[in-house]
Amino acid sequence: MKRAFYIGRFQPFHNGHLTVIDRITREADELIIGIGSAQLSHDLENPFTAGERVLMITRALEGLCCPYYVIPIEDIKRNALWVAHITSMTPPFDTVYTSNPLVIRLFSEAGIPVCSPSMFKRESHSGTSIRDRMRAGKPWERLVPSAVVDVIHEIHGIDRIRDLDRDDGDPKIEYLSGEDHV
Ligand code: ATP
Ligand code: MG
Repeated sequence: MKRAFYIGRFQPFHNGHLTVIDRITREADELIIGIGSAQLSHDLENPFTAGERVLMITRALEGLCCPYYVIPIEDIKRNALWVAHITSMTPPFDTVYTSNPLVIRLFSEAGIPVCSPSMFKRESHSGTSIRDRMRAGKPWERLVPSAVVDVIHEIHGIDRIRDLDRDDGDPKIEYLSGEDHV
């Protein structure tokens, strides 16, 4: 019985993430999906709440062939303790799937095997470029599963991003979007 762990911010969940999950389902019996930076929302880099990201993922994975658990995980801002933070929040797992260099480093140092799947069309399939497209009013829908398109429309996600991008001439409002993004 092999359980795999896959972590990302999923802002939003896109087709690149789906290719990783497809590979995991061929190599593991169960999947844990960690939603990182769960406390962040309503800023241009993190427009969606943890709950909205749970919705995107569960709708997109409807009918997935293996059992999976979606677990929001808040940042702790202490990289040396981060793996322990993760394992305190998740079912036990055998392998981590990630291509993020810091995440690879932290799990490797903790002695947990890491697998780094190759990138799927990374130029277009990245959260950053999809958020940029949403902001600029360019087409983004074909880059995410159709269930994610539905969720983003349902929560008026594009209106939110456009509003966050509006400039009323004020300096940055630190108490709302300062360093801690609280
Ligand atoms: P952002 O640009 O906001 O960082 P992202 O596309 O990198 O978004 P993350 O949520 O940061 O998405 O990534 C979660 C995991 O998915 C990471 O391990 C990342 O390397 C991987 N990943 C992201 N895009 C792809 C892709 N196109 N193909 C395969 N893996 C991907
Ligand atoms: Mg990333």
